[in-house]
Amino acid sequence: MDDCLFCKMVSGEIKPDLVYETDQVIAFRDINPQAPLHALVIPRQHIATVNDAVPADAALLGQMVLAAQHIAKQEGYAKPGYRLVMNCNADAGQTVFHIHLHLLAGRQLGWPPG
Ligand code: 5GP
Ligand code: ZN
Repeated sequence: MDDCLFCKMVSGEIKPDLVYETDQVIAFRDINPQAPLHALVIPRQHIATVNDAVPADAALLGQMVLAAQHIAKQEGYAKPGYRLVMNCNADAGQTVFHIHLHLLAGRQLGWPPG
């Protein structure tokens, strides 16, 4: 997708602060962190929203969760805990339309979320 911010990060046109990458996903620090660790895990493949995922994407979605698990362990947050969030469309506050898994850790996170 030519005009997608996160596709530009995948292609290297924009250089994010990478924390992890595999052949299927990349992960980088959020520009506006909401916790001491706030990373975004995205698939290299463009999928606009969770609504657009299909059964053939199941393994890729699983890879996103496993990447987040890897980063949480790498940064020392596996035991204290962390939160994984995917926002879909307006009511959830999705602002970038290339799916991304938020990984938040390093502080006590409130529940329910706002
Ligand atoms: P959403 O609200 O769509 O779930 O999350 C989008 C996230 O992308 C936000 O947390 C926002 O701070 C982050 N973001 C937006 N633009 C950029 C950018 O240019 N670089 C990085 N690293 N994060 C971004
Ligand atoms: Zn994209």
